[in-house]
Amino acid sequence: MKTVNVHIVTPDGPVYEADVEMVSTKAKSGELGILPGHIPTVAPLAIGAVRLKKGAQTELVAVSGGFLEVRPDKVTILAQSAEKAEDIDVARAEQAKKRAEERLNQSKQDNIDFTRAELALKRAVNRINITQNRF
Ligand code: ATP
Repeated sequence: MKTVNVHIVTPDGPVYEADVEMVSTKAKSGELGILPGHIPTVAPLAIGAVRLKKGAQTELVAVSGGFLEVRPDKVTILAQSAEKAEDIDVARAEQAKKRAEERLNQSKQDNIDFTRAELALKRAVNRINITQNRF
């Protein structure tokens, strides 16, 4: 089975490295599936899950935006933040979700606060969904 080497890196350091059969993720332009030998590509990523297929197993990593660089034998994801499913603290994500929802429900706020709260909500929901295998 052909594989592609995947690295997921954040400003805090590497989060994931493995040889996988397929990588799927959410680019800003839509879902992207990458198999070994894919043509070189660069794409901005949305807040979402990276799915990494290894035989019968699929591993999940939450990413909060960033960039994907594809070469025929290597995929690099540079993410603002990334967590493997098993490293996600669900209680923390639930609290972040609650805080963001409260901010979004406050009537007096400027656009910057609103956008920040919307993004925080998306990150929290993404993390929660990944721990529940929903994405
Ligand atoms: P919070 O308000 O809980 O900090 P956030 O979405 O603002 O959430 P980020 O700015 O995206 O957090 O991430 C800051 C750091 O904390 C990153 O290293 C990220 O991987 C980590 N992190 C954030 N939320 C979680 C979580 N629920 N479980 C594990 N790590 C998390």
